Amino acid sequence: MTCFLCLFEAPPGAQGHPTRRCQLRQQLQCRHWVYKEHIFYLLGPCLSETCSHNKQCAVRGLVGHTSHSLTLSPTRWRLTPAGFVVHIASLGVPIITGIDFVCPLVGDCQASRIVAAVHDLALSAR
Ligand SMILES: [Zn+2]
Ligand SMILES: [Zn+2]
Repeated sequence: MTCFLCLFEAPPGAQGHPTRRCQLRQQLQCRHWVYKEHIFYLLGPCLSETCSHNKQCAVRGLVGHTSHSLTLSPTRWRLTPAGFVVHIASLGVPIITGIDFVCPLVGDCQASRIVAAVHDLALSAR
């Protein structure tokens, strides 16, 4: 099983995870909090209490995302006909770098550390 988001490929014995269950998928940028012209913008208040817009970023202390929140970049995400955001399932999608994170203080180095931590976690899950 390969995760197209963090590109974790489960070695024999490890469990792996599908893209939709990736740690990096859990705290995605809130669709109600992107700017209005954004193709994923949703009108109205967000009703999810566990949504990233309710979280505080540990890096900068801002509310609205976590240090792991990814932006809703149209090169990486698409909308299903039912209106759900899903990751584009292709190995041609670029690897995650600093610009993929909502937090402006997450640079390329930290981005690769976060991805490595997700891989470590995936390896330890059985
Ligand atoms: Zn993953
Ligand atoms: Zn939200």
